Amino acid sequence: PQEIFDQFYVQNEMSIRGFAPRPVLSFDEAPFPSQMKSILHRLGYQRPTAIQSQAWPVLMSGNDLVGIAQTGSGKTLAFMIPGLIHAAGQTISRHGDPVVLVLAPTRELAQQIQNVCNDFCSSTNARSVCVYGGAPKQPQKRDIRHGLEVCIATPGRLLDFVREKTINLDRVTYLVLDEADRMLDMGFEPQIRKIIRYIRPDRQTSMFSATWPKEVQKLADDFMSNCSHITLGKAV
Ligand code: ADP
Ligand code: MG
Repeated sequence: PQEIFDQFYVQNEMSIRGFAPRPVLSFDEAPFPSQMKSILHRLGYQRPTAIQSQAWPVLMSGNDLVGIAQTGSGKTLAFMIPGLIHAAGQTISRHGDPVVLVLAPTRELAQQIQNVCNDFCSSTNARSVCVYGGAPKQPQKRDIRHGLEVCIATPGRLLDFVREKTINLDRVTYLVLDEADRMLDMGFEPQIRKIIRYIRPDRQTSMFSATWPKEVQKLADDFMSNCSHITLGKAV
C-alpha cells in the first residue's frame, strides 16, 4: 500500500522530482535476471540501498536520472546493474566498441567501479575495460582491442583514445557521469563536454553527485532531458 512508500521516502529523507516510479524495496521485486539477484545475495547484501531502490526502476525504464547522494550510499550498483542489463540487450560488435560508458574522476574510482562490474559480469558476459591517465597507454589499448561492452574511464585519457580512434563512442547508448561534482572540481568539464559530443543524442544519461552546485546543474541541463531527480538525505 501507499503507506509503505510514503514511509520509505520519509525514512530515507528522499525526494524525487520528475518521473517517479515506485521504489523497489527488495531484490526479489527488482526487474533483474535471476542470476543477478543471486549474485546480490551471494555478496551478502540483504536489500537495496535507498538510492538503488529508486534509481533501478527509473533507469530500467530508460529514463535519464540525476542522483544526489552522499558517498557510501551504494550509487555504483544503482547505475551498474541497469547498465549491464542494457549492454546484454545489444549485439556484440566485432571491434567491441563500448555500449556503456562510465566517466569517473580518478583512476582509483574507475578501478573500484570496474571491480563492482566484474562481480556481475559472469551473469551477462559483458567485458569491461578501465581507461585512466598517469599510466602507459599500451596495456589499455591491448585490453580495448580484445573487445569491450563497458568502458569505465577518466575523461582526459578517454578523450585521447577517442581522438586517436582507439575507442569509438558511436555505439554508446548508456552514459553515466559518476561523482560529477568531483570531476568538475578537478577541471574535467571541457573534456566531459567534448566526449559527450561524440555520443549519440538518443542515449540514456545518468549523473551522480554528492553535492548539487550550479556548475553540476548546468551540465545536467545541457546534456539530459526529462530526467528524474533523486535527492537523498542532507546531500544538498
Ligand atoms: P557510493 O558510490 O555511493 O559512494 P558505493 O557504490 O561505493 O557507494 O557503495 C558503498 C558500499 O556499500 C560498498 O562497500 C558496497 O559494497 C556496499 N553496498 C552496495 N550496495 C549495497 C547493498 N544493497 N547492501 C549493502 N551494502 C551495499
Ligand atoms: Mg561512488
